[in-house]
Amino acid sequence: MIEKRSFYINGAWVAPREGRDHVVINPSTEEPAAVISLGGGADSQAAIAAARAAFPAWSSGDPGARVALVERILAQYQGRAEEMARAISLEMGAPIDLARRAQAPCVSSHIQNFLEAFREVRFLKTLRADVPDSRLALEAIGVVALITPWNWPMNQVTLKVIPALLAGCTIVLKPSEQAPLSSMLFAEFVHDAGCPAGVFNLVNGDGAGVGTDLSTHPDIAMVSFTGSTRAGRAIGRAAADTFKRVALELGGKGANLIFADADADAVARGVRHVMNNSGQSCNAPTRMLVERPRYEQAVEEARAVALATRVGPSHLEGAHIGPVVNERQWTQVQGYIQKGIEEGARLVAGGLGRPEGLNKGYFVRPTVFADVVPGMTIEREEIFGPVLSIIPLDTEEEAAAIANDTVYGLTNYVQSADGARRNRLARTLRAGMIEMNGKGLPKGAFFGGIGASGLAREGGVWGIEEFLVQKAISNWDTAVPAP
Ligand code: NAD
Repeated sequence: MIEKRSFYINGAWVAPREGRDHVVINPSTEEPAAVISLGGGADSQAAIAAARAAFPAWSSGDPGARVALVERILAQYQGRAEEMARAISLEMGAPIDLARRAQAPCVSSHIQNFLEAFREVRFLKTLRADVPDSRLALEAIGVVALITPWNWPMNQVTLKVIPALLAGCTIVLKPSEQAPLSSMLFAEFVHDAGCPAGVFNLVNGDGAGVGTDLSTHPDIAMVSFTGSTRAGRAIGRAAADTFKRVALELGGKGANLIFADADADAVARGVRHVMNNSGQSCNAPTRMLVERPRYEQAVEEARAVALATRVGPSHLEGAHIGPVVNERQWTQVQGYIQKGIEEGARLVAGGLGRPEGLNKGYFVRPTVFADVVPGMTIEREEIFGPVLSIIPLDTEEEAAAIANDTVYGLTNYVQSADGARRNRLARTLRAGMIEMNGKGLPKGAFFGGIGASGLAREGGVWGIEEFLVQKAISNWDTAVPAP
C-alpha cells in the first residue's frame, strides 16, 4: 500500500503535526490503495504562515519569473503524464484510458491557455485618456486557499493553482481526501520546477478540519472552491466573518434541448456525455428534453447507447466507464434510481444494483429514465452518477421554462439546425455556459455558472482576474520611468 503521510509546507515535505491516518480506497476493488494523513489546526497554521511569509516577495517580484515557473511546471507535468494518469485512475476510478486521454492531459492545455491569457492582463493602466495621471492597478489578492474535489482532480487543481501563481498569490491547497494522490504528485512537480519556498503549500485534510481552518483563518484573503453546493454554502458562511473573497464552482443539472431538426448524433452524443466519467461531472447534460416528433426514437437510441456502455475496473484498458468514487456515492446514486422508479419514471436501461459480473467495486449500471416529469426528484437533484432523465417537450417556450426551473445554472445545451432558434435560446437559458450542436467552448473561454452552481469564472483572463484586486490611483507621476 502507498504511504504518503507528509504535507508540502515551506518548500519541503514535512511530517504532520496533528495528523491522523486516512485510507484511500480503490473504488474498483474496495481495497485500501494508500494511506495519507488528515491534518489538524497546527498543520493548517504552518502552511498559512509559510504562504503569508512568502507573499510580499512573490507578489511584488518579476512577473516574468512567475511565467517561467509555470512553464517549468508544465514541462514537469508533460514529462510525468503517465504517472499522473495512473494516480488519478487509482484514487478516483477513472478508467486508465480516460485518465490518459482526458483527466491528465487536460492540464497541459489549461496551463498553455493561462500563459496566453496572462499576456492579455493589463496589471497597470490608465483609467481614461482624459486623465493621463490616473492609474488602475491589478494586484494579487493575498494568500489563497484552494479546496478541490475528486471528480476531475487535476483539472480543478490546475484551474486554481496556475492562475493564482501567475497573479502573484501564495497558496495553500487542500485537495479532496478521496483523491489526494494526484495533488501530492503535482506538488512534486511544483517543487522540482523550483518554486520558491512557501509560495505553494499542500495540506491534506477533511472539510470539517483543514477545510474549515482555511475558510475561517484571518490570513487567508480568498477561498476558491469546487465541489458540492452543500460545502460551498458552508464555506461561504465560514468565510464571511473575515470578509474573504469566495469563488465557488458547484453542482449542476444541465438541460440538453434536442429539437426534431437536430443532427443525427445528437441523442447518442448527449448520452455518452452523461455516462463519461461515470456521470461524475458537474456540467453533465443529465436532463435530456426531446421534441415530441423525435421522442420515442430518442428513447430507443438512448437505451441502445446505455446498454452498449461497458462498465469495468479502472486499471483495464478500453473504452468502458469505471466505478463511482466511493461507497457513499454508490449508495446515493442507488437511492436516486430507486426514487426514479418509485416516482413513476419509465426505466428503459440499467437500474438498481451492480452491472452483471461485477460483484465488488462501486459500479453503477448505466441508467436511462424516460417520461420524466418536471418536479420528480431525479429531474431536480444532481445525481453525480451515470443516470439520464429524458423529458418530452412540445414548444421552445416550454423547453426554456423547464430548463430554467432549477436552482442550478452551469451548462445548458441546444441541438437544432435552426440558427435563429439556437440564438434565441442561447440568450433565454439561464446558465453560465451554453454549448450548441456538439461544439465545445473555445480555448480562452471560462468555466463557471450562476445560482447554486456558483459564480466562479475559471480559465482565460477571467480565471487570472479572480485572484486579483483592483486599486485606483490618482496623480501618478508620469515622468518617472516604469521599473
Ligand atoms: P464535497 O463538496 O463535500 O467536497 C469537495 C471538497 O470540499 C473536498 O476537498 C472536501 O474536503 C471539502 N469540503 C467539504 N466540506 C467542507 C467544508 N465544510 N469546508 C471546507 N471544505 C469542505 O464533495 P464530495 O463529498 O466529495 O461530493 C459530494 C457531492 O458533491 C457529490 O455527490 C456531487 O453532487 C457534488 N460534487 C460536485 C462537484 C462539482 O464539480 N460540481 C465535484 C465533486 C462533488
